[in-house]
Amino acid sequence: MRALLKPFALSVALALPMQPPRAQDGVVDPDVIALCERISGKLASVGNEECLERRLVDSGGRAVSGAPIIFKEYPPLQTRKPLGRVLLIGGIHGDEYSSVSIVFKWLKTLDQHHSGLFHWRMVPLLNPDGLLRTESQRMNANGVDLNRNFPMPEWEQATQTYWVAKTNRNPRRFPGKSALSEPETRWLVREIDAFTPDVIVAVHAPHGIVDYDGPKDGPYKLGRLYLSLLGTFPGSLGNYAGIQRSTPVVTIELPFAGIMPKPGEVAEIWRDLVQWLTRNLPEYRQAAGQPVQETEPS
Ligand SMILES: [Zn+2]
Repeated sequence: MRALLKPFALSVALALPMQPPRAQDGVVDPDVIALCERISGKLASVGNEECLERRLVDSGGRAVSGAPIIFKEYPPLQTRKPLGRVLLIGGIHGDEYSSVSIVFKWLKTLDQHHSGLFHWRMVPLLNPDGLLRTESQRMNANGVDLNRNFPMPEWEQATQTYWVAKTNRNPRRFPGKSALSEPETRWLVREIDAFTPDVIVAVHAPHGIVDYDGPKDGPYKLGRLYLSLLGTFPGSLGNYAGIQRSTPVVTIELPFAGIMPKPGEVAEIWRDLVQWLTRNLPEYRQAAGQPVQETEPS
């Protein structure tokens, strides 16, 4: 196990001359290059070359500061019809370093072994502003907990009641002024609308469990993480997508925010996730419901 933070690397990286865009790597967007440099300056487990090699793409989405939200798509292959679409998101909370690093490791796995079994869309860092400040923080640059900012019926009452009564106005849990007040959550909801994932996987830390919101049941275990339902918080992604949209949301809570699981464990969690998706996704697709006109005879 190794610590994730690289406290002195950022200043060193900033002192070095900017690398020119590397078209041969498929990384041509200067915003992505700049973001990779900042991510690798912050996370010991993600090197700059490694980040560039993943050939992430600027989604067009922006955090409050203007930092890009980057993603990578692994589309269906000609040879195989995928079992379904999976949207995987890390770094919703900016101080959960391992939740970003582990997505980079899984991106590498997909780069090497994408078999077309699923149509993946991978977002390693939804909250770049939270991670990339000098002192990383859970919230975005507006001080909003993005995982409390998603819409729900009577959002204001539900989130405010929870924030005041259950968290005693903890600033780390501030839901924002209104549902979708933040550019990062607005981007994700648009992304969910456009991609219409069959399953959403959200990576967090440090509870060391698997949580689940949605129809039917979540995975019993992923690696050494076992299913343990934490409850569905008002304004959370699990509440929004899992409960209201009936899109299964698997939340992977890694054991430590600042320590990466060992490589064997990183691989085991991935293997178990793929296995669970393979076994369950077709049925979950049905349970989640297709558009009425396609499933119901008139
Ligand atoms: Zn979290």
